[in-house]
Amino acid sequence: MSPVIGVLAIQGDVREHAHCLTELGSQVRLVKSVEQLSGLAGLVIPGGESTTMSILAVKNNLIEPLRELSSQIPMYGSCAGLIMLADTITEGRSDQQTIGGLHITAKRNAFGRQVDSFEIDLKIPAIGEPDFHAIFIRAPLVESASDSVEVLAAIPSEMSLTGSEQIVAVRQDNLMATSFHPEITSDLRIHKYFVEMVRSA
Ligand code: GLN
Repeated sequence: MSPVIGVLAIQGDVREHAHCLTELGSQVRLVKSVEQLSGLAGLVIPGGESTTMSILAVKNNLIEPLRELSSQIPMYGSCAGLIMLADTITEGRSDQQTIGGLHITAKRNAFGRQVDSFEIDLKIPAIGEPDFHAIFIRAPLVESASDSVEVLAAIPSEMSLTGSEQIVAVRQDNLMATSFHPEITSDLRIHKYFVEMVRSA
């Protein structure tokens, strides 16, 4: 039997992640409550709106159980999910809670507003060739990362508006996060990478 991978289903593009995981042959469970966390082999935190996700996670008493679980099973966060997995955030709401675990500082809405959303072809050596077509929607940026964090992808300085390299995908042990949204493309390589992380955990 393939392992059961959860998708946190309180807000965001839950269906899209579930679809990618199912396509890869994983069993998927949509997680709305603490009880539904039990027995999961991995968990995806979707893209969406991290402030809303945080409020709903607190309301459903999910923050503490998720914090505990983040040191036990692999987790992958895309966009708002990256913010949820970050130890520290900037430009957040003053009361915004994160699950944390990833030793990074994530800057919310780092590339501007909704209209400043963009798409770019990124080199991601961990998933191989060709470049990955990455879609950024009011995306966060990994402003800084501790030495334990592996950079999986960065926008190279010559392509970045700031003139310096911008980190947009990271992994630290069993936690992984991307600023962009692979779940809204048909390229399953990022999800496949995560499913393999879950299988080998
Ligand atoms: N800007 C959103 C936030 O701060 C993230 C956007 C996204 O997930 N597409 O939560």
